[in-house]
Amino acid sequence: MAHLFKASTGMTKAAAAVAAKSATGSTIQVPPSGVVTFGVWGGDASGNWLNIRIYRGNRILTDGAVPAVPVRVLHEYGDEWVRILQADGLEAGDEIYGMTTTGQRYTAALTVTAPPASPSVVTREQLRDKAGVVQPKYPPSPAILALIALLNRGTDGTLRAAAGSLESAGRSGNLYEHTAGLALDIYRLSTDAAQRLQAHNLIRFFIDNRRAFGWRNMFYESWGFSQSGLMGGAPNHGNHIHIDWMDFSTLKFEGSNRNDRSTWTEVTWPAEALVGTSINTEVNANQVRAAWGNTSASPITSADIPGLYR
Ligand SMILES: [Zn+2]
Repeated sequence: MAHLFKASTGMTKAAAAVAAKSATGSTIQVPPSGVVTFGVWGGDASGNWLNIRIYRGNRILTDGAVPAVPVRVLHEYGDEWVRILQADGLEAGDEIYGMTTTGQRYTAALTVTAPPASPSVVTREQLRDKAGVVQPKYPPSPAILALIALLNRGTDGTLRAAAGSLESAGRSGNLYEHTAGLALDIYRLSTDAAQRLQAHNLIRFFIDNRRAFGWRNMFYESWGFSQSGLMGGAPNHGNHIHIDWMDFSTLKFEGSNRNDRSTWTEVTWPAEALVGTSINTEVNANQVRAAWGNTSASPITSADIPGLYR
């Protein structure tokens, strides 16, 4: 007897035991990051832990020496026969099963479903604290969450959500790309040749995938990049790539100077920021891994950039 159930990352043993015994469930929503956390309760008839197998249509994502979707064991509570597991890059429609060691399905399917997409508007008033100061408290958009998960996956954990690594929240004081949940800073020092090359290789990857990702603005060193080519740079980008999904066509602000962020009153997430599933994919994770580890590429020069916009 065994079944799969919905779980969360930091589940204690007691909470996991309750979740395992109360509701089994047959569907689980994929969060914007594509990272799904679930549990398995019970083992096979011989007392072995079940193997987890995930199907996308007829394709098996989890088997083989280098699985397309690795399944991690986050927690194991042996005396409760409970394991909390996590898998990356899942999409709506994927099906999760517990299998016996001889490859037979031993649980019902846990089917991955898409979260409801809804337009999101972030206002300056929403971000104010009790003292009236705008704070970076809005959750990152699905695109940003998926990009964080992708970069974490493609760099085998080197880039992670943390200060000086992958930062999305930004500074307090204004409603702007970061506090609105639409921007990510990816830290790579341009004065360090190896880090700079990793940044340049990531920029190549972002430009290659600009239409699928739908990002709008990117800055590194003296360069500014848009969906269509080079644009003016921004100061203070010597130690990080800034990438954002900021759509200026829907921005509301006071007065006539759009460039003064203190006048911004309302930011609307564009459609591309609302869905992360085309970002944190297996194909993209492999491309990030290749870009990250490619030490033989040449750094980008300004003359190269038009050619990157194929
Ligand atoms: Zn930034």
